This record gives sequence, C-alpha cells and structure tokens, in this order.
Amino acid sequence: MDGQIKTTGIVYLVGAGPGDPGLLTLRARALIKSCDVLVYDNLANRSLNNWAPPSCELIDVGKTPGRHTMEQSEINQILVNKSQEGLRVVRLKGGDPFVFGRCAEEMLALDSQGVIYEIVPGVTAALACAAYAGIPLSHREFGSSISFLTGHEDVAKESLRVDFAKFSEVGGTLCIYMGMSKIEEIVDKLLAGGLPVDRPAAIVSHGTLSRQKKLLAPLGKLVDEAKEKKFCAPAIIFVGNSIGLSRSTTWFEQKPLLGRRIALTRALTQKSKMRQSLESLGAEVLDLPLIKIQPTEDRKLVAEVFAGIATYEWVVFTSANGAREFMKLFFRAFSDIRSFGPMRIACVGQSTADILINYNLDIELIAKDSTAEGLAKELVASDSLDSANVLVVTGNRNRDILVDVLEGVGRAIVDTLPLYETDFADILDCPDYGVFLKEGADAIIFTSSSTALSYIEQSDDIIFDKDARIPVFCSFGPQTTKTLKENNMDVGLQSAHPSIEALCSSLTHYFTNSQ
Ligand code: SAH
Repeated sequence: MDGQIKTTGIVYLVGAGPGDPGLLTLRARALIKSCDVLVYDNLANRSLNNWAPPSCELIDVGKTPGRHTMEQSEINQILVNKSQEGLRVVRLKGGDPFVFGRCAEEMLALDSQGVIYEIVPGVTAALACAAYAGIPLSHREFGSSISFLTGHEDVAKESLRVDFAKFSEVGGTLCIYMGMSKIEEIVDKLLAGGLPVDRPAAIVSHGTLSRQKKLLAPLGKLVDEAKEKKFCAPAIIFVGNSIGLSRSTTWFEQKPLLGRRIALTRALTQKSKMRQSLESLGAEVLDLPLIKIQPTEDRKLVAEVFAGIATYEWVVFTSANGAREFMKLFFRAFSDIRSFGPMRIACVGQSTADILINYNLDIELIAKDSTAEGLAKELVASDSLDSANVLVVTGNRNRDILVDVLEGVGRAIVDTLPLYETDFADILDCPDYGVFLKEGADAIIFTSSSTALSYIEQSDDIIFDKDARIPVFCSFGPQTTKTLKENNMDVGLQSAHPSIEALCSSLTHYFTNSQ
C-alpha cells in the first residue's frame, strides 16, 4: 500500500456454528472460500480454515499456550485495519455471532470507523446441543418460553450477572451458557428461587463434536453428578420440564466411532474423503501429515510421452496422486479426451481408478489387493504384455518391483513417467502436533510405508504427555504392515482391504470389540 486507504474492504461477522462443520450455513462457507483474511479463535472449528483460499491470511485471535486471549480492542483494530486495506475480512465467531459472542462490540467498532460490514447468523450452541443430544426445548404442555442465560459474560468477572432466583419464576426452559465454573451457585440460586429438586435438567458439553457428553439428572443432583462425571466447559446447562422428555441416546450418540480420536498421517489435500468418512462415523480426526507430495515434472519427458501417447497398449497408474497429476498435464497438452488413444488402463486400487472414472474412462484392471505387486501379477496374468508398450505413471518410491515384474516376467517394454515426489514432512509443522502429544489418540493410521517411515524417523519428537491416550498403530495395507513390523512397531490392526470403506469398518469393528 502507498499510504492511500482503499474503501472497498468489508468485514463479515460470521456465525461458525457450534462445532460440527456440517452445521455451517452455505453463506458462511461461500464467504470463507472467497475471503482475503480469516480471523478466528478457538470457539470456531479449526477445520473450517481449510476452506479458505491458499492466499488467505489466517489470524488466530484465540488463546493458545503461552499467550493470553487477545484483548477485544485489539481484535476490533485488526478488523478495522484489514478492511481499510481494501480486504475482504471474515471474522468467524462460534455459534451465532450475537449470542454472547461479543459481536456487538465488533459491530460498534466497525460502525465508528465507517467500515462496511455484514452479519451472518449461525446455529447457536444451545439449539445444536439440544438437537444432537435429543433434548426437547419446548413441548405444548410444558411452559411456553425458552430463555438463553449466561453464567458469566466475562471470565474475569467474579460474580453472576443474571438473577437466577428470578428465573425460577419465569419457568419454561432455561439454557445456560458459560455456566460450568459457577454451576453450584447457579443451581443453589434456582432452588432458592423456588424450582423443585426434581425439575429435569441436563448438561451437554462439547456438543455436536466427537467429544460430546451428556448428563440427564434432576436439578437437585445435577452438581454432584456433573462433578463425578467430570463435566467441563464448553457446555450448556438445561433446566425445564420438557428436558424430562429427553432421549437417553440419540442417532448422534450412537455413532460407532464417537469419542474416538484418530490421527491421519497422509499428505494434506483440500478434500479428504478419509477424514469425511471417519468424521461421519463420529470420530475426531487429527491431521498429522507426515509426508508431503510435490509434483515433479520433467517437461521433456512429459512432452515425449504425450507425443507418443497413442503407442501404448497399457497405461498403469500406481497411485491417485499420479493419476491426478497425469490428467492435469494431459489436459494442458490436449484439449480433447480422444487424444488419450485406445490403450487399456490399469490401476493399483479403487481410489486411483475413481480419478480416471471421473473423466468417463473405463478401467480394464484394478488390482484386487491394491498393492503394486498384486497389480503387476494381475497384469502378467492378463497375458497381454509380451512386447507390449506399457507406460507406468508413478511417484519416486515403490515403483521398482512393478517395473521389474512387467519387464522381467511379462516381457513388456516399459516407460516410466514419474510425476511427483514423496518427501517426509516435519512433524513439528503438522497442524495437530500439539494436540497429538498432549491428548494422544486412539489410533494412528499409516496409509503408506512412507508415512510409517517418517513417523519412525521422527520418533524423538513424539513424546506423549502423561495423560495422553497412546494410539494403536493401524495400517492401511500389507506393505505398510510389513514396514511397521520390520521396524519393531506393533500393528494393532490392519485394514481388511486398502480402501477407505474397509478401513472404516475395520476400525469400527476394532473399537466396538475393545470396549
Ligand atoms: N456465540 C456462541 C456462544 C459463545 S459463549 C453461540 O452462539 O453458541 C461460549 C459458550 O457457548 C460456552 O461457554 C458454552 O456455554 C457454549 N458453547 C459453545 N460451543 C459449545 C459446544 N460445542 N457445546 C456446548 N456448549 C458450547
């Protein structure tokens, strides 16, 4: 900037919902996807940040170890400054921005500086916790009001601001935010105000997340049970007659991997099917990308291969990354899929095949066991290799066996086209490294030998905290299991088949039986 202030900037004060990213509004998602600056704190699910464009500046204004929460005035200033630079700023706020979220202060600060802004509502924690925990907030026969109250508006403030004794008279359903640190005092006041000890009550902590916990108890027993079961913030306390109609277990609470924390070691990609599948089963997923995949394009070689593309009888893809890169380069060289030629296509597994199926290409062969050896054997068994021209699209690892078998046993003429490199990634740079050491995980999934080797090489940096859960090692396939065992690592479970579906059912089976 040359000192001039542009006026086209804008701030969006956006509700991020209670935790489950699926509860974000379409509007919120569209804004995150197109913003220049994303300002967030710990109340918004961090995985939402993955939607931001790569060029987006991410600003964490929440509390992180060794640093206190940023003052509200500082946050306001960031919003004002960034928008005055002409940028599109999204300020993500947990739940709904206007429900105990200090959005009013940010709005007033923007107003006073003449900054343009919009407000996007979100699903507030009380409503989301009630839904995911099967707690009805109203019923025709029980009262006709629902109140949102807060235990403390400011952590620094000692006393309760709300007159809870008065709310005993209001009746209906009470939803109390930020109440856990003062729960004893709140319940005492409600009882003193006249609510009976048997008035139904509930607590839902970490609502809509894998760690969701629920307690249903009459008001008189709520405090003791909450202490005994170690309920802690963030939580909503519910009190009211309709709470008595709550279901003991809901669809959400029955998810087979609920409460399980699973670390994924594969390279980060924007859309992760594995993450989504595990999350839909209720797991909390930690990203521990132990390898990084970088496209490596030897332009001359690529040009040569594409010049002779129609001469190959087989094109063999040994990974989804290779298939993805290949198609990208293909369409850079040709505009029409017909330039692909009449060759047959072989893939190491279903996820590799899926990339090509997206282009309406038929796949003649998918290795049954999803390994390079299996692929080689099945190609040889197809009896079509003798003197055939075969192109193997690969990375920089694990290609030798395949090529050796195709050339040696199958007598094929093989060209290789390496399109990417797999390198170890520094575990210290992994997004969830801190949480992984502090809290551990129930399982860590090694999707390839290289992720396992990277973990082993960096084991000096993996010292778990004393209370952390020690993860069971889970391997995606036989090759990875072999690598782990060769390095004296105990393999707790191996996916029945190297596919996401099989992995999910192996994990579900393992954890259902280990309870
Ligand atoms: N604006 C937010 C509330 C911010 S105040 C909203 O609309 O939800 C922070 C409080 O919200 C927490 O102390 C807790 O009481 C509640 N809260 C936020 N997320 C929660 C969750 N996932 N489960 C239970 N309570 C939650």
